[in-house]
Amino acid sequence: MEKEKGILFVLSGPSGVGKGTVRQRLFEHNTDLHYSISMTTRQIREGETDGIDYFFKSREEFEALVEQGELLEYAQYVDNYYGTPKSYVTDMINAGKDVFLEIEVQGAIQVKERFPEGVFIFLSPPSLNELKNRIVNRGTETDDLVKNRLKEAQNEIRLMHAYDYVVVNDQVDHAVEKVQAIVKSEHCKRERVENIYKKILEDESLC
Ligand code: 5GP
Repeated sequence: MEKEKGILFVLSGPSGVGKGTVRQRLFEHNTDLHYSISMTTRQIREGETDGIDYFFKSREEFEALVEQGELLEYAQYVDNYYGTPKSYVTDMINAGKDVFLEIEVQGAIQVKERFPEGVFIFLSPPSLNELKNRIVNRGTETDDLVKNRLKEAQNEIRLMHAYDYVVVNDQVDHAVEKVQAIVKSEHCKRERVENIYKKILEDESLC
């Protein structure tokens, strides 16, 4: 009997929109999703743990993984590499488990090419002005950099057509509820449950 595969969920969206916060809150709730821990070459931050928040790698190690085809996707973001380990994703999906990625837009587009059956969720800011406030409030960017980030965000919003769902991050709890609703709905999709009905229709033992 063929085993049902898991579903790959990809949460993405412009930088500063709050992907990390939504993902963290989502995983604070009881969930059957399995978070795919990314690889990165960026410095470990205070409070982070290697193997939990990221697998922290040197540039050489990362480039070797790319060379060996070990990454499902990767992208360069603010001078650092970020990438998704391929085997974790494929092993979990084949074992019938749902996998959740939280990645930037370039990476999500690559995953879409390789895994078109995945579910792509675009996290969007309520407005450009709100995104600007969030970037400014982080307090790390100069005026010119903020402008660049907003231009980049507009370019990323243009790629929204590659996604299946759009969730506006007006309030974190609301965004999390919507992502949970998407996960539930995807499990009810006819295409995904069709196999069960095939078995019912082929069963001649009772009627
Ligand atoms: P941070 O350095 O703040 O943890 O993450 C920076 C950005 O990298 C965020 O937008 C995050 O979503 C993205 N990111 C994290 N992991 C991956 C990954 O494996 N691949 C890609 N393409 N982006 C990632």
